[in-house]
Amino acid sequence: MLKRSFFGLTQPWLKYEGLAEPPDRIRQIPPPDQVTYLFDTPFEKTTDLKLNIGDSIKRGQPMVINDGPGGTQVGSVTGTVTAITPYAGDFGRRYTAVTVKVVDTEVTDSGFSACLESPDIESARAYLAGAPGNPPMDRLVDSEKPIDTLVIDAVDDDILIGTRQYVLKTDFPSVIKGIDILRRITGVERIVLVVSRESFQGYGHIGADVLAADLKYPAGNPYLIVSNLLKKEVRAGQSFEDIGVCFFSIEAVASLGRAYTEGDVPVNKIITFIDKNGARSLAAARIGTPVADVLSAYGVTLNERDRLIFGGPMTGRAVYDIEHPILADTDAVFVQDRESIPYSSDYPCINCGDCIRVCPVNIPIDMLVRFLEAGQFQEAADQYALESCIECGLCSYVCVSKIPIFQYIRLGKYELSRERLAEAAND
Ligand code: SF4
Ligand code: SF4
Repeated sequence: MLKRSFFGLTQPWLKYEGLAEPPDRIRQIPPPDQVTYLFDTPFEKTTDLKLNIGDSIKRGQPMVINDGPGGTQVGSVTGTVTAITPYAGDFGRRYTAVTVKVVDTEVTDSGFSACLESPDIESARAYLAGAPGNPPMDRLVDSEKPIDTLVIDAVDDDILIGTRQYVLKTDFPSVIKGIDILRRITGVERIVLVVSRESFQGYGHIGADVLAADLKYPAGNPYLIVSNLLKKEVRAGQSFEDIGVCFFSIEAVASLGRAYTEGDVPVNKIITFIDKNGARSLAAARIGTPVADVLSAYGVTLNERDRLIFGGPMTGRAVYDIEHPILADTDAVFVQDRESIPYSSDYPCINCGDCIRVCPVNIPIDMLVRFLEAGQFQEAADQYALESCIECGLCSYVCVSKIPIFQYIRLGKYELSRERLAEAAND
């Protein structure tokens, strides 16, 4: 039996596609009628809701759903809360969705302006966690995992995305200001800006070391940046914070810089839009805008079995709801025509070894995939390094038997984490 694969590429794109020249203007997605914010906390566990239906929200106003991590967003519009509901993401992720109906007259919250003179981590966390680029402020306040290195990542996540390159090339003054703010509010001495090799020139004194990642995909993967450029080791199962490293996208740092320069919390997310022909363009949308509004602005209609992907062709995730919002870390929206999605099959592995040859971390994928197909996730982790996978997607891309290896890997990691959570709960 043949079935459609998750992604399809018809030529070996193994290099990051550079942004030749940034456009003078990018498409502005019109302000939406309503926005949705996804709080990274399950609705079912949110017993101490701090937002209510009917609450008024101003642009730039912190919204706190509860006291837990992931419980903060910032208003990108002015309006009224009309719904608070559970929201299911992929691989069992559960969120609390807050929908705000937008009113005609925009009002800006003035709270942040009082924080400008004396920047500190708590006010930056309150107003800027959830800003474009999704600054990971929660990770900077975890006393159990002190950070000694901040990495500002200007290399896009995937081969066709140009969002970070655009910020690097067009908003560098905000990046420099953001670096200064980060140093002041965190006290971290080592700040590193990672750019792609083709952008590695003429930075002067910016308050950070500048390192170059190779142009060959996936050299910009955070795990490879840590091992190849920082010369640090992240063991399987460890987070970057476990070894004292915290990643910021360059857009997140520019958001910090712009906020403290202009006294206003940024609310527009830059996205790379990749259409059905593979053409790329850049757009700006209010965080929380339904992706349907982006499609409408581009005049794109989704037909049956077309695929909508958040992210790029190698590692993006399919979205099945056109009301799904643009999030603070949505760097790309990719529309794939049903005719350009190649088939995958349930043919067996023929041991050709192509996947092993391309894997940047030398995983014995031909063996791993057998255990994943059999649902033996713990064995896959213990014997075939499931948790060492850095999720680049190259193995799926090259597999001659069209086995959706990368999807099996994501599923395997998810199931493994579920099993461990269940075991911990029973202890
Ligand atoms: S996605 Fe595949 S090729 Fe990439 S690191 Fe994981 S196993 Fe290796
Ligand atoms: S590329 Fe596919 S067929 Fe070849 S060894 Fe890897 S899993 Fe097997």
